[in-house]
Amino acid sequence: MSVLALNGGKPVRKSDFPKWPIKNEKEIIKLKEVWESGKWGVYSEYTKEFEEKFAKKFGAKYALSAVNGTTSMWIALRAAGVGLGDEVIIPPYTFIATAVAVLLANAVPVFCDIDSETYNINPDKIEEKITSKTKAIIPVHIGGMPCDMENIMRIAKKHNLFVLEDAAQAHYSSINNKMIGTFGDIGSFSFQMSKNMTAGEGGILISDNAELMDRCFSFQNCGRIKGGAWYEHSYLAANNRMTAFQSAVLMEQLEFCEEITRKREKNALYLAKNISEIEGLTCQKRSEKITSAAYHLFIFRYNKKYFKNVHRDIFIKALNAEGIPVSSGYIPLYKFEAIQRTEKEYPWLNGREYNKLYLPVCENACYEESIWLYQNVLLGEKSDIDDIIEAIIKVKNNIDELIK
Ligand SMILES: *Cc1c(COP(=O)(O)O)cnc(C)c1O
Repeated sequence: MSVLALNGGKPVRKSDFPKWPIKNEKEIIKLKEVWESGKWGVYSEYTKEFEEKFAKKFGAKYALSAVNGTTSMWIALRAAGVGLGDEVIIPPYTFIATAVAVLLANAVPVFCDIDSETYNINPDKIEEKITSKTKAIIPVHIGGMPCDMENIMRIAKKHNLFVLEDAAQAHYSSINNKMIGTFGDIGSFSFQMSKNMTAGEGGILISDNAELMDRCFSFQNCGRIKGGAWYEHSYLAANNRMTAFQSAVLMEQLEFCEEITRKREKNALYLAKNISEIEGLTCQKRSEKITSAAYHLFIFRYNKKYFKNVHRDIFIKALNAEGIPVSSGYIPLYKFEAIQRTEKEYPWLNGREYNKLYLPVCENACYEESIWLYQNVLLGEKSDIDDIIEAIIKVKNNIDELIK
């Protein structure tokens, strides 16, 4: 008789994990205040107040909001002068937005492989990607796990490269108590619905560089110069501003997001400890310098040798049947038709041959190894985490059932 739920057995868990987003009544009060004020957009004082509060909480002098986290990165790149044919080094293991921001700036994404233990860009492989055309590096703190910013900044300084931190998944992550987003020239966050802090959509940039932020203002704001007239446009840019309604919701979230980050992290550390004790499973590496991690994703690695060569994808199916919402995550960005198509459409990308690219660590992560849980799963109680561990052990102990 089968034991595994995939084969008709009783699942470990039938109930849902915590839902996302979490609704906070205080947001309604603030939303109503904005609604009554009639100041719903354009240089709204609520957005200004939110930006100031965000900058303060995230350890930067300035913050500038935007419609979303893809556009905020595009704004940062354009403000840094990144444009036609300039090369930008990015990891292939990330959401497509990282590459889209580069491509929409008419620049060239240069993919650099990831580290096998952290899944973040591998600093040891960055320098071999640098050419006379390289202008910037975008380290992506994947799942909210901070990149090796010490080494990345050392390389960037040596080669005079602009650093834009993609912190879309890393709200309240820190290294030695210094907030993620404040290591590079500028940091970018997303408030898209799935992110650890959300207004449905939205994005924000933080930096200590006033001149850079003034240029960002132009690219956020129809190309207007700070202090210039309404119908005076000096740069080519759309209206990329967020609304006061988003600012109202986010202002309240600034407070309680930090609190739930601690809860998420506590559950993540407990889960990591238990998963690491199971032979054949390893968690995304967290260096000792990391003082806080957002765990937008909880990532662990599967080695099929310890699972009688059953492929990760079958293991995932078996866990799903047990009621655990794990997934396999990204595929390498250079595999997407959207990216490969640009070579035909943009002459300056000609000869990049993204379709021929093979970055072994990323490919192994995507197709063999990585297993994800989303952040909302980590917002429950210890008993929820115990169910995950129980299901993993159950599938492992009955792995013979998965061999066809
Ligand atoms: C979500 C995300 C973004 C930005 O996404 P938007 O949907 O445009 O806000 C950028 N980079 C990464 C890694 C992301 O996960």
